[in-house]
Formats: sequence, structure tokens, C-alpha cells
Amino acid sequence: MRHALGTMAIAMAMMATLGGASARAQEWTLVIHGGAGVIERERMTPERDAAVRAALNAALAAGGAVLDGGGSALDAVEAAVRVLEDDPNFNAGRGAVFTADGTNELDAAIMDGRSRAAGAVAGVTATRNPISLARAVMERSGHVMLIGAGADAFSRAEGLEQAAPEWFATPERREQLERWRAAQQQGQRQSALAFDPDHKFGTVGAVARDSAGNLAAATSTGGVTGKRWGRVGDAPLIGAGTFADATCAVSATGAGEFYIRMNVAHEICARVRLSGDPVQQAADAVQAETLQLGGSGGVIALTADGAHAFSFNTPGMYRGVARRGAAATVAIYGDE
Ligand code: ASP
Repeated sequence: MRHALGTMAIAMAMMATLGGASARAQEWTLVIHGGAGVIERERMTPERDAAVRAALNAALAAGGAVLDGGGSALDAVEAAVRVLEDDPNFNAGRGAVFTADGTNELDAAIMDGRSRAAGAVAGVTATRNPISLARAVMERSGHVMLIGAGADAFSRAEGLEQAAPEWFATPERREQLERWRAAQQQGQRQSALAFDPDHKFGTVGAVARDSAGNLAAATSTGGVTGKRWGRVGDAPLIGAGTFADATCAVSATGAGEFYIRMNVAHEICARVRLSGDPVQQAADAVQAETLQLGGSGGVIALTADGAHAFSFNTPGMYRGVARRGAAATVAIYGDE
């Protein structure tokens, strides 16, 4: 009798474990950001606050629908980023910041944690959704990164949707450029912050874990206001602003020059993989070290066990998270 009960208890415990494992396998997580910077309640209108939250929710819904249907993390991060690229409130795709010459030059990268396949573009000018161009580079070019006119030509050859310069340009970003030009005339020193007088980033990104447990990361940006000489930031550089492997996925936003030097996205994932640091601890530590160099900003990070982290040292970061079976949440300010 004792033996039979013992066997039954073991069988039940096994079923519970298996049930737990299969329930976990069904789980998915999607984390997004829409940029970190001087985003404060006093500076936001209620309309803008509402528009940003609606866009973040729309991006979570688009990526979440992919994951809920059993789709891949890679498809989900692309879907979420495309929504934010099309929204003029963010510095990516439509609504990208201007270069010193008054043009829009876009950077994007995507990485599949399953295989470490990656694709990136920098300084592209005519693809409506640069994240999809990055994915085309990954899947169909035989390369990892294409830049400028060559990347634009590849986009046309691949039949990606093209957009005229007016699509990307918004009056608000033009005003930011004018403020930047005025500051230049007043002889403000060139620094990472002088690039953008508002220090208001707006890069967009997503990291996801799909129901098969695979991870992916994607980031898209217009860079920084007043950039010159073909300047490229961290967003399209694999390991700096964007990274995914089997353990961890990261998308960053912030003062790109510093994020490049710290190799922020890869550094966070390396600490998780090699030291077993919890992802929030790894993200906070690398963020602190980057700030010590002089670079502020934020990251989103996600691990294969579904743990996620937001880490930013700016007053705010547009951000959101969705999980299977739970209500999506979005936030803007540091105290939310
Ligand atoms: N990291 C981006 C760049 O340096 C800027 C941003 O996050 O808004 O290009």
C-alpha cells in the first residue's frame, strides 16, 4: 500500500512537472522600447502621452499576435518594430531625426538568437521599414551589413516598399534640427549631447521569446539630430545596440558612441551566459559602466527562461511588455 501510494505520488509529481514544462513551453514574452531620454511629465502634452502609449500598445499587439499564433520571435520583433517605424512619434522610419544636411539616414539591425544569423543596414534613405531591409540582408544578401547607396539598391532589387523623403520627414524633427543649428551657431561644443539639444532619443526596439523558447532582437533608428559624415550609431552594430543568442536578447537606445565602445548588448548577454548573472543585474551593471564613460540611455533585455529587464538612467524610456495570457503594460516615465 505504502509502495503503491508512493508510486502514485511520484507519478503525480511527474505529471505536474511535465504539465509545468509544457505550460512554460507555450509561454511567450515580448518586450519593446521606443527610446530613452529626457522624457518628463512636465514636457509631455496629454495628447502626446496618449499617442505614445497607443503606439506602444499597437506594437505589442502586432508582435503578440505573431507569438500567440505560434510564430517565431524573429517574426514578432520585426512586426513590433515595423509599427513603431511607421509612427511619427519615434525616431525611426517615419519621424526619424535629421542629419546636419537636412536628410534622414536610417540604421537598423535584427538578430535571430537560434542561429545567431544577423542582418543590418546603416545610412539608408528610401526603405519605408528599415527593419525589414535588415532582415532581407540577413536572409538574402549573403552578408551581415550593408550601408548607404548599396543598401538602398539592394532594397529596390529585393522589392521592398520604398518611400519618398517626405514620408520620413516630420515638422517636429525639422524644428529639432533648427534648434541644433542655432546651438551650433552659438558655438556649443561638439559632444554626444550637443548632437541632440533635447537629448531626447527615440530609437525603437524589441526583444522576444517565442513559444519554442527561441529569442530574437531588433532595433531601428534615425540616429541623432545633426549627425554628419556618414555617422553610424550603435543600433545597427551587432553586439553594440542589438544582440541575441540562445540565452539572451538585448536592444539598446542611448548615446550610441558610448554604447559602441561598451559593446553593451553583447556585454549584457555575455554576463548572463558566462557568469549566470540575473538579467536585471547584468543590464544595470553594464548601464552603470556605460554611464561612467559618459553615455546615458536604456536597454531592454530578455532571457530564454522568460525573465526580462528594463534598465535606463535617463528620466524616462518609452517601453512595454506583453506575455501570453497577461494584459500588456506600457510605461513612459521613470517613476512608473
Ligand atoms: N542609439 C542611437 C544612436 O546613437 C540613438 C538613440 O537611441 O536614439 O544612433
